[in-house]
Amino acid sequence: MRYVIVGSGVAGIAAIEAIRSLDDQGEIWLIHEDPHGFYSRPGLAYYLTDEIPEEQLFPASIDWKQYRVQRLWGRVTRLYPEQSAIEGVHFRLARSIFGSKKVQEEAFRLSYDRLLLAVGSQAIPLNIPGTESQGVVKIDHLDDARRIRLLARRSRKAVVVGGGITSLELVEGLRAQGVEVHYLMRGERYWSNVLDETESRIVEHRLEEEGVILHHFTEVSEILAQKGRVVGVRLKDGQVLRCDMVAYAIGVRPRLELARQASLQTDRGILVNEYLQTSVPDIFAAGDVAQVYDPRSGKAMLDSLWGPAREQGYYAGLNMAGLKRPYLRGVPFNVTRLAGITTTLIGRIGEGRDEDTLGIVRGDSETWRDLPDALMAQSGFDVNRIRLIIGERTLLGAVVMGDQTLSFPLQRMIAEEVDIRPIRDRLLSANEKPAEVLAEYWSKLTTSTAPSLGRPVFKFSRA
Ligand SMILES: Cc1cc2nc3c(=O)[nH]c(=O)nc-3n(C[C@H](O)[C@H](O)[C@H](O)COP(=O)(O)OP(=O)(O)OC[C@H]3O[C@@H](n4cnc5c(N)ncnc54)[C@H](O)[C@@H]3O)c2cc1C
Repeated sequence: MRYVIVGSGVAGIAAIEAIRSLDDQGEIWLIHEDPHGFYSRPGLAYYLTDEIPEEQLFPASIDWKQYRVQRLWGRVTRLYPEQSAIEGVHFRLARSIFGSKKVQEEAFRLSYDRLLLAVGSQAIPLNIPGTESQGVVKIDHLDDARRIRLLARRSRKAVVVGGGITSLELVEGLRAQGVEVHYLMRGERYWSNVLDETESRIVEHRLEEEGVILHHFTEVSEILAQKGRVVGVRLKDGQVLRCDMVAYAIGVRPRLELARQASLQTDRGILVNEYLQTSVPDIFAAGDVAQVYDPRSGKAMLDSLWGPAREQGYYAGLNMAGLKRPYLRGVPFNVTRLAGITTTLIGRIGEGRDEDTLGIVRGDSETWRDLPDALMAQSGFDVNRIRLIIGERTLLGAVVMGDQTLSFPLQRMIAEEVDIRPIRDRLLSANEKPAEVLAEYWSKLTTSTAPSLGRPVFKFSRA
């Protein structure tokens, strides 16, 4: 059996782990375009702020010898589903006669028995004049992060456009490199389709404390350059803002080129069934590129989250190796940092559209904006804050900012659809503190005498 995995992100690597756990003999090929192979993409934010050195992005635990994987640095350019084959270019570093290194390309063709597309997503480009100028950056890969750090060294002033987590990572990364940062938002507040007004203001206040200059209702119409280098941006109102760098994060798009060319069924991502199979049964897809059925909403959803990508990759690997194991999409969960404040986002928490982004952004889940009729409880108006989205019988979502004591209990209560009717009125009462009510209820649920659950300790519905 020959397994071919395209993409060395977390989904591809998890698939390899799963395949090897079941099939000791099969041949595994990993084709990866990124020269650095597997590393932590969320970690790039901490690399930008100098909190971790580059080496720490690479996990120490991967034993390639043990997995016996044939690794090929290259780009897959075409799929031939009828012939169960792929074609692409193999990259090789060659030294020229003058000693400098050059990338050489060589065509390859490879057949497969099972193929996994774990090709991830990529930044949506800014669609304005001037984006080809030197000094315009986005962050998809380690090489992007290296470039940002290098450019920041000789830049004094940067403009950041976009929304979601990645734009803040760019803001904070550039700030940490000593660059004056102007953060431009098209709307009236930060990440308005996921955060509520108070949460956005908490983040914005923190950014201002860090010296970031915020511009609301501001949009760039053109990047200005001299001799090919950024010198400023022209705003929609005609004003010019001088800067040496422009960083953008307006959303990501699954990499669908291969799937489309091979006529696999796609929507916003590659559509897969519960076994992570595409419309062609021996081709699987997992991670950011896959659009996965969500049993809670009955819709197929995109996530741009590390945890689900890893889990999907693992399940895809199990199924590729012949174990029929359905993947059940769980409640999206992300612990992140927004302007230095640890923030956990769980389940359904927002709605509407954010003017600063186009579709999904990194560290985001479409579920977060799929908000049905629900009531809200909130407690705390400083940096420690909890917001709960309360359904008739269960909690639907939560945002926990600052103190994270309740983030794990909330994740489990939401994922397991714990019956909250005994405390629902108290959660909604103006005289009670939701955090205290929840902590008390959680402690009851996890003791051996939990009367409402009728079982000693409740367990995750998913392994
Ligand atoms: C800066 C940043 C911050 C993030 N922060 C968070 C966070 O806080 N929380 C969170 O949960 N998630 C975060 N994410 C998102 C998370 O990293 C992704 O959801 C996850 O990495 C997706 O994994 P993947 O394996 O699906 O794809 P990727 O990690 O994107 O890997 C895909 C790989 O496929 C390769 N590839 C693509 N096309 C081809 C081809 N044709 N041929 C060969 N190889 C190809 C690419 O080179 C790439 O290496 C962040 C991502 C970034 C970039």
